Amino acid sequence: MELKNIYLKRGKEDSLRRYHPWVFSGAIHHIDEGIEEGDVVRVITAEGELIGTGHFQIGSISVRILDFSDRTIDQNFYAERLQEALNLRIALKLLREDNTAFRLVHGEGDFLPGLVIDVYGNTAVLQAHSPGMHYHRKMIAEALTHLDGLEIKNVYYKSETTLPFKAQLDPVNDYIIGKFDTNIARENGLLFYVDWLKGQKTGFFVDQRYNRSLLEHYSAGRRVLNMFCYTGGFSFYAMRGGATLVHSVDSSAKAVSLTEQNVQLNFPTDARHKAFAEDAFKFLENMEKDAYDLIILDPPAFAKHRSALKNALRGYQRINAQAFSKIAHGGILFTFSCSQAVTKEQFRLAVFSAAAQTGRKVRILHQLTQPADHPINIYHPEGEYLKGLILYVE
Ligand code: SAH
Repeated sequence: MELKNIYLKRGKEDSLRRYHPWVFSGAIHHIDEGIEEGDVVRVITAEGELIGTGHFQIGSISVRILDFSDRTIDQNFYAERLQEALNLRIALKLLREDNTAFRLVHGEGDFLPGLVIDVYGNTAVLQAHSPGMHYHRKMIAEALTHLDGLEIKNVYYKSETTLPFKAQLDPVNDYIIGKFDTNIARENGLLFYVDWLKGQKTGFFVDQRYNRSLLEHYSAGRRVLNMFCYTGGFSFYAMRGGATLVHSVDSSAKAVSLTEQNVQLNFPTDARHKAFAEDAFKFLENMEKDAYDLIILDPPAFAKHRSALKNALRGYQRINAQAFSKIAHGGILFTFSCSQAVTKEQFRLAVFSAAAQTGRKVRILHQLTQPADHPINIYHPEGEYLKGLILYVE
């Protein structure tokens, strides 16, 4: 079938020439008749030159470029891109007996805009963020089962909350290939249950793997508070690292119960851990001074959109100020923001303001970001979202 074309206004191809993979609606002069949301389209400059092929979508981002050529987008295309993505994870040494969880595809970072795939053992959890990827889900799932170097038996599709609501695609979360197998995965030798059926994101936050290892390094002999714990990732690393006490807090009762199960899986009958289903703001406000020597603040994205930026920054300042004012002397604070709309500088400024508010002596030990299986395409800086600081508080 002949592909349809999207024609750009004069001069609007500049960012595409620099390999930025998005075409904004304002750049479009006109489109061929009959183009539907999710279609694969060709992008043509005002001079009539083909500049790329991608998925069309209604909204401010109109096309997500899959290839800067007229390449056919079929199962072979996905097979090739997925194999490249896997080869990188193999090079990163993420496929090991003691590590079965990693991100295989990180959207634009793996030259597959609109697609996220996390792997948990033999199961891949596939998430579409664009209608085009939704329509291609079966092709992608099929390609996933034929990779060289990774045996995927089950592919679970989980896009109920990630597709644009207005597209009315009504995706159903379900297995595209295979069925429920085991849902226990391993990260750096630690076990955890992954609830891809009902959990947040693909069931686990694989993006904190490296930062959790750093936390393990700092945990010996410390009393640890893991705020916004979700499935307790940081908590069981802290326990393995020799923390004397670990308190995990999340406002979701379900998250707290998952954390408890995961702690049991790794450290059965260990009395050092306790979990609390409580609001983080309240918990921080009510907690005693000097009760903890290591605090983790890993809140959900306070700013999902740019419009919420001001409130988000206030939120970051508020929780960090609480932590600074209560943490014991010689304490260590791991503080994060996963809001894409908040820049590194803005986040650091919010944390600086919080520190200044309390007058504590604070030093930056490490500046953190997302791990290498969440790569940032150099032409797409928007792919950088996770920011963190490890601070020493005198
Ligand atoms: N640190 C986690 C991921 C955190 S995700 C990990 O390593 O896996 C953010 C978590 O914050 C979610 O589990 C959500 O339930 C929780 N949350 C959101 N608002 C909250 C609030 N006001 N108080 C406490 N927890 C909250």
